[in-house]
Amino acid sequence: MQPNNIFVSPHFRLTEFQCRCCGCVKLHPELLVKLERLRDAWGSPLLLTSGFRCEKHNKKVNGAEASLHLLGQAADVVVLEENQREFMEAAEKEGFDQFIPYGKRNFVHLGIFGRDERISLPVNQHKWEMAVPVHAGAAA
Ligand SMILES: [Zn+2]
Ligand SMILES: [Zn+2]
Repeated sequence: MQPNNIFVSPHFRLTEFQCRCCGCVKLHPELLVKLERLRDAWGSPLLLTSGFRCEKHNKKVNGAEASLHLLGQAADVVVLEENQREFMEAAEKEGFDQFIPYGKRNFVHLGIFGRDERISLPVNQHKWEMAVPVHAGAAA
């Protein structure tokens, strides 16, 4: 049996969060709880394209230097472009505080403990380097 192939919540297995290059995994309990609640609220399966990333893998995919993926506090979820706004609103209700819609690439980055620094991309831009930090103030 494959390591980490175990349900850690009703809908997620630990394998879904492990680093794509080495299989290492770090998963913040609150990320899992929030994702599980979001899964219920959203009503359909959440397919993760990226969960935890080791330093090496994060560099390889040009992740931000201080990416929450390095801490097990972020996940990238497959969401069609036309549903991304609605999806992020649902995620915000569950307490996520970092959102990056990747538009035509059909996924959304969600993080926890982004400390009110929200990053939003214009829909036609997809690179971290183009991210524009938006200070949204204290979480409502
Ligand atoms: Zn790795
Ligand atoms: Zn991400």
